[in-house]
Amino acid sequence: MNFKSKSFSGNFYLQGVKTIQFLSVCLALWCGSLFTLAQTSKDQPIAIVIHGGAGTILRKHMTAEKEAAIKATLEKAVQAGYIHLMAGKSSQEAVAASIQVMEDSPLFNAGKGAVLNALGQVELDASFMEGKDKQAGAVAGVRHIRNPIQAAIAVMEASPHVMLAGAGADSFAMAQGLTRVEQKYFITEARKKALERVQARQAQKVSYIEADELYFKNQRYGTVGCVALDRDGNIAAGTSTGGMTNKLWNRIGDAPIIGAGTYADNKTCGISATGWGEYFIRNVVAYDIAAQMNYAGHSLASAAWNTIHKKVAPMGGDGGVIGLDAQGNIVMEMNTPGMYRAAIDVNGQLQVKIYADE
Ligand code: ASP
Repeated sequence: MNFKSKSFSGNFYLQGVKTIQFLSVCLALWCGSLFTLAQTSKDQPIAIVIHGGAGTILRKHMTAEKEAAIKATLEKAVQAGYIHLMAGKSSQEAVAASIQVMEDSPLFNAGKGAVLNALGQVELDASFMEGKDKQAGAVAGVRHIRNPIQAAIAVMEASPHVMLAGAGADSFAMAQGLTRVEQKYFITEARKKALERVQARQAQKVSYIEADELYFKNQRYGTVGCVALDRDGNIAAGTSTGGMTNKLWNRIGDAPIIGAGTYADNKTCGISATGWGEYFIRNVVAYDIAAQMNYAGHSLASAAWNTIHKKVAPMGGDGGVIGLDAQGNIVMEMNTPGMYRAAIDVNGQLQVKIYADE
């Protein structure tokens, strides 16, 4: 009995020691994993890059006030996204926040201030893609959604589809509770004048295509886009535009087309494009850059350079792309004299630029 009780107390003692040892190991592992997690999220780079459109943006056409206003809005937009990344929020939230600032500004060809089609109406295109699982959403030719980027995200999250167009897309967005506005909200005097100018040229007997070409070679810019990398290592990309001035009604550009205007894949990169949409669609620009990285081992910089200068440009197209890869390397490539753009890199360094030679 004694023995039994002695043995029992000995066992009890030994079990206690083992339990304490076990708990200590668990605690150490738990602390270790917390430390690793903290390290991972601290070490995981965050970065963001935006564009406000590419085109014939020349110093001689720019006033100091306009340049300052554009740079201030670009900075506000890139900071709006970066704040989300700093707070540990997703790249989706960062992209939506940055693009919304530019959609709400009359300075860019997206949301308020979008260009007019041949009938004097605003028709908006937008798309969004997640690099972590390649989920995507897009809207095309919408006329009443105040922030088309939100509608693109809603299509991805709340519908079984990737792209909705026209009245159906407007109606879907309203059903999702997004803000509806009348056409007059989008239309500015500057865009009315731009339409008059290009239509006057057309009336002077230049063909529709020539008028289009003249206009786009000379004045096109303003589409907006954003690509972000968050603390979880997820890349997201989005693009939003009014398309091209004097476009035929219901024309759809590259911006809402996944793979052409927007693409994201954590394995390679995220891309948002701006430029003469027809050329960007035919060259599947955003995906072409990711594909070169995936299949041929190109860096983001060399892939973007190849696509813009070896594919789009030789065909007669022009424009630019912004993008970043999983390490947070940023690219801003164009074959136009300028592209409104801004970025905050992995070191927290901000840059805001307009001209190609900057
Ligand atoms: N890519 C847009 C479109 O073709 C226009 C632009 O980026 O300026 O609709």
